[in-house]
This record gives sequence, structure tokens and C-alpha cells, in this order.
Amino acid sequence: MITFEKAYRLMMRAAAPHGETETVSLMEAGGRVLAEDIYSDVDMPPFNKSAMDGYACRREDLDSPMQIIETIPAGHEPEKRLGPGQCAEIMTGAMVPEGADTVVMVEHTELREGKVLVTRKSGKDNICRLAEDVARGDRVLERGTIISPAEAAVLAAVGTSSVPVARKPVLGIIPTGSELVEPDQEPGRAFIRNSNSYQLYLQIERAGFDPRYFGIAEDSPGAIASIIETNTGEVDVYLLSGGVSMGDYDFVPGVLRDKGYRLLFEKVAIKPGKPTVFGESENGYVFGLPGNPVSTFVIFEVLVRPFCCALMGTEYRPRKVRAILPDGLKRRKSVRLSHIPVRFTGSGSVEIVEYHGSAHIHAYTMADGFIAVPVGTELIEEGSPVEVTLV
Ligand code: AMP
Ligand code: MG
Repeated sequence: MITFEKAYRLMMRAAAPHGETETVSLMEAGGRVLAEDIYSDVDMPPFNKSAMDGYACRREDLDSPMQIIETIPAGHEPEKRLGPGQCAEIMTGAMVPEGADTVVMVEHTELREGKVLVTRKSGKDNICRLAEDVARGDRVLERGTIISPAEAAVLAAVGTSSVPVARKPVLGIIPTGSELVEPDQEPGRAFIRNSNSYQLYLQIERAGFDPRYFGIAEDSPGAIASIIETNTGEVDVYLLSGGVSMGDYDFVPGVLRDKGYRLLFEKVAIKPGKPTVFGESENGYVFGLPGNPVSTFVIFEVLVRPFCCALMGTEYRPRKVRAILPDGLKRRKSVRLSHIPVRFTGSGSVEIVEYHGSAHIHAYTMADGFIAVPVGTELIEEGSPVEVTLV
């Protein structure tokens, strides 16, 4: 058994970015990984821009009524230069005319006999200056960035309508177990429904990877090998679930070796998920995940996800928040890094959700995240701060 940290390092060292890119439209770019640095082809703002509806004028003229010389809507260039005692009616987003050094918002003015009287002076000039946000040629986004709505806005603003992104790694799901039936079937005695595959499918999609589902393999080396053979070449990473423990019918590690995978680890000091297997071959990578659904869930989040992000040339940064654990936590053994589902109870506190062990699929339906309790920690005192990884 190796530590989680060691397993993580071995796995990440094996992760060779595939380097393949494709272009997608802005509307398809959500969650994708940017494959190139992006530079701006414009200044932002591209001109001195009014931040308010109001009157563009000279600060020194604010004490006396001003004559309106034109109206400047957004999308129109001013036609005149402002002289002393003059102002221009201006709309938000319009170009500030030459000669003006301030915009007084309309709410701070009154019209008197056709002239503008300022009723309230503020220190603000309400002008967004040319290039104050971004200058033409600036790098606005870095390669490896995950595209979320704010990035889409930046891409749109700099004219990147076809977005270069990393190809999504293809993850092939193979559940193993002679006790498994699919969700649309009635399980007979001694059978259970395959829940892992559907959980994994959504985890893969949510992480921004491309899931493929290959159906249940019964517990026989031939059945497992044949699904792998049939689909090799189409997938970057196989995710097998089940069949990795010490039982007589746990054939996965043996089959993987036969298929030419070099196994970098077969047991990790992690809970749940100890019998996790990871291997590489010239045909790609494989994870053998323990069959229990909570193990599968956690191992996907803490190992598979960072690994596959690395294949796309990005670093997975899980969202973590600190919270107080008012009830604290005691555990008897502390030889493994343990993941415990928690939920927020309000005002910065979390509580541990009911959790019966790695087969208890309901636990994570009630959880907002998990806390990772390190090896050697047997006690978290009541009221201690903990770090919650959101899931
Ligand atoms: P294994 O890792 O094959 O020893 O399986 C451990 C436990 O997980 C057993 O109780 C299995 O029945 C269960 N299990 C295995 N595969 C799945 C699956 N795809 N969906 C739900 N439970 C599973
Ligand atoms: Mg099994």
C-alpha cells in the first residue's frame, strides 16, 4: 500500500498531455480548456466612454447653467468639440466629446430655460478611460484556462468567436461484476443494479470530459479483456469498476497486466477506495476503481479528475472552502487518508452526513462536499475549522 500523495505523484508523472486541439463556437465553449493564449485586438474601452446617462461638460463650468450643443447616443461619434459653458447630452456607452473632462449624471441636473443646471456635484468624472481595462495586444486569457461565463465574455470582446480548445479526453466506463443488472431490469435474488456507471457518466460530463459506456462485464477474465480489446484506440482512459479487491473473482489487475498495462499502484492508503489500480500502456491509461459506489465517486474526484485535466493541459483546482465542524470527529484508525461527506448547516458550519460506508450511495446525495482527514489524525476537536472540498 502506498500513500495517497505518492500515488498522486506517480499518476501525475505518467500523465502526458495529448496536445490535440479543436475549435468550437463560443456557445459550445463552456467548461472547455483553452488551448492557446488569447490576446486582445482592441483597447477596452476603445474610446473615452461615458459611464452614465447625463451631460458631458468641463468641470470648471459646473457652477453656472450650461448650453446643450448636441446629443450623443451610444454608437455615434460626437460632432462637436465642447467650448466654455457648453455641454453635450450623452448616453451610457457613448463617446465623450473632446473638450469634456466629466459627465454629470442626469439625476444630478435640472433643465432651466433650456440650459443645464448641476444640482449636485460629485467627485467622480463618470468617464471610463481609453484602454483602462485592457490595451490592444494584452494577453487577456492564458492557455489552460477553463472557460466559464466570464471567460466567454472576454473571448467575445476580443473577437475570438472560434475558440481553440483542448480535445476532451475520452473515458470508457466498464463496470465489472456478475451480480450486476442494468437499471431497467428487475434484479433477481443475489443481484444488484449497476449504479456506478451512471454516477461516473455524470461525473465525467461534469468534469468536462467525454464519457463512453461499454456495458457490464461479468466476472471473468475473458469478458473483461474482450470489452477492453473491442474499444482500445477509441479511449484515452478506461475506468473499470469492481473486481480489484482480493476475492477469487477479482480479475481486473491480472487482465490489465495481460493486456500490456504497467500497473503503477494497486493499493492506496485512502478511504474509501483502498484497492484502486492505475496503469499505463502505449494504448492509454486505466483506472481500476473499487466497486462500491462511494469509493468510485471519491476516487474519481481525487485521482481520475486531476489526472484527466492534466491530459488536457490544465490543472484541476477543486473548489474548497473553510468551515467549522461544531461536532468534531473521532476515528479509531488513522492509517488512511479518509474522505467524509459533510453538508453546510448555515453560518459557516458543516455537519457530517449519515454515512454507513462505501456502499451507502445516499450519503453523497445529502452532502455538499467532503473533508479529507489525514493519516495520523484521530481527532478533530469540536468547533475546529475544516477544509471542505465541494462536490
Ligand atoms: P468489488 O470491488 O467488485 O469487490 O465490489 C465491491 C462492492 O461493490 C460489491 O458489493 C459489489 O456488488 C458492489 N458493486 C460493484 N460494482 C458495482 C456497480 N457497478 N454498481 C453498484 N455496486 C457495485
Ligand atoms: Mg466484484
